[in-house]
Amino acid sequence: MTSSRKDIIIIGGGIIGCSTAYQLTRHPSFSPVTTTIRVIEASKHGPAQGASGKAGGLIAKWAYPKELVAISFSEHVKLAEEHNGQDRWGWRYVECGSWEGQSAVRDKDAEFGDGVGAGGQRKSLEKTLGLEEGSKSNSTSRKRKGLPDDLLWVDESLTHRYSPMAASGDTAQVHPFLFTNSMMDLAMEKGAALISGRATRLNISDGKVTGVNVIHNDTGKGETLPATDVILAAGAWSPSLLSTLPISSTRAHSIIILPQPSVDIAPYVLFTEIALSKRRGLTVSPEIYARPGNEVYACGPGDDSLLPKNVDDVVIDEAACESIWKHVSSISPELRAGTVRKRQGCFLPIVETGGGPIIGAAPHIAQGLIIATGHTCWGICNAPGTAKALSELVMDGTIQCANLQEMDPAKYL
Ligand SMILES: Cc1cc2nc3c(=O)[nH]c(=O)nc-3n(C[C@H](O)[C@H](O)[C@H](O)COP(=O)(O)OP(=O)(O)OC[C@H]3O[C@@H](n4cnc5c(N)ncnc54)[C@H](O)[C@@H]3O)c2cc1C
Repeated sequence: MTSSRKDIIIIGGGIIGCSTAYQLTRHPSFSPVTTTIRVIEASKHGPAQGASGKAGGLIAKWAYPKELVAISFSEHVKLAEEHNGQDRWGWRYVECGSWEGQSAVRDKDAEFGDGVGAGGQRKSLEKTLGLEEGSKSNSTSRKRKGLPDDLLWVDESLTHRYSPMAASGDTAQVHPFLFTNSMMDLAMEKGAALISGRATRLNISDGKVTGVNVIHNDTGKGETLPATDVILAAGAWSPSLLSTLPISSTRAHSIIILPQPSVDIAPYVLFTEIALSKRRGLTVSPEIYARPGNEVYACGPGDDSLLPKNVDDVVIDEAACESIWKHVSSISPELRAGTVRKRQGCFLPIVETGGGPIIGAAPHIAQGLIIATGHTCWGICNAPGTAKALSELVMDGTIQCANLQEMDPAKYL
C-alpha cells in the first residue's frame, strides 16, 4: 500500500471515468488531504453526453466478460442500496426476452428504412452474444406464443413468439445518464473535482506520467495539470491521446418515447426481430427498454460513420431515428399512440481486435498510466467493477477484487 501524495487525473466523464472517481473516493486509503482526483470532460454540457448518457442501461448477470460482470452486478446492487438508486437513477430488476413477430404495416420497408445512419453499414451491437437461443413455438394462442400475462404493450396478434432470455433476478436496469451523473456528484461530495475542458496531451518524462495538457471550455486557455496517475477513460476518443490503442467506434441512434395511454408499462426489455416484408425477408432488430416513469427507450443498429473530434459534435441522422420509431411503434399500439421525446446518437467504443475491454496499468508506456476503455455494448453494466478494480490499482498498487489479466493493456499495446 502506498502512502505518498497522489494527484489523479481521469480523462473522460463518461460512466467509466465518473464511476472510477466515485470508487477512488470510497477506497479505505483515500483522504482529500493526500489525494486529489480530477475528472476532465470535454463536453460543454457536463458528464455523460456520449454513450454513457444515451445507452439502454441493461445490467445483466449474463453479460460479458464474466470476470468483470461478477464484480459489477453485485456492485450495482450495493450502490443502489447505499444511495437509493431506485429513486436516484431508476435502478430496478426487469424481465428480459426475445420477441419475434411482424410489423403491423408490412411490405412498406422502403418507407421504414433499417435504422442505420446515412452512409453507414448496419452493425449489430452484439449484446446477446453471451446467451443461448430460446425455444421455438409456432402456436397462435397467447400462452403458446410464450407472451407473459403482464407484457401487454406489444400487440399479441403480431407476436410469433416470446422467449425469456434469463431467469428473473438476473437482469436489472439503470438510467445511464442519471447513474453517471450521480457517481460524479457523489465523488464530488468527497472532494473530487470536475474540469470542463479537453485533454490534449499526456505528459511523460523519464518513463513516468507527469501531467495532462488541457484546454478549458470556459476560457479557451490551455494549462498543464500535474499528475502522479492518469486514467485514460475517454471511450471511443481514447486513441486521440494514445494513438497505439486499438479502439474504434460504432455510431448508434436511439429514441425516447412517452407512450399513450399513460399507463404503467410493465418492466420488460425486448430484443426484437420484426418482420417488415415477407416478400423480401426483411427484418429489423431494435432493442426496446421500458423505463420507470412511463418512458420507453429504443435503439437501432450501429453504423460506421466517422467519430467527430468532440462528443458535442456528434451528428444525429433524423432518418435513422425515424425508422427506429416506425419499427417499434409498428408492434405496439401504446407506442404508436405516444410521442417521441428525444432523438439521439452516440459512439460505442469497440476493441478493434475483438474482446475487451482494456483495463489496467501500462507501465511499458509510462509508470502511472492506466487504461480503461473499449467497453463495447456492456459499459453501463461493467462500469462499477471496472471502477472498483481501478481504485485498487491506483491506491494499493494491484487489483484484488478480480482477475482481469485478459484485459491487461500489455496484450493490446
Ligand atoms: C445504443 C447503445 C446502447 C447501449 N446499451 C447498453 C446497455 O444497455 N448496457 C450496457 O452495459 N452498455 C450499453 N451500451 C454501451 C455503453 O454505453 C458504453 O460501453 C459506455 O457508455 C462506455 O462508457 P465510456 O465512459 O467508456 O465512454 P463514453 O460514454 O463515450 O465517455 C467518454 C467521455 O470521454 C470524453 N472525452 C473524450 N475525449 C476527451 C478528451 N480528450 N478530454 C476530455 N474528455 C474527453 C467524452 O466527451 C465522453 O464524455 C450501449 C451503447 C449504445 C451505443
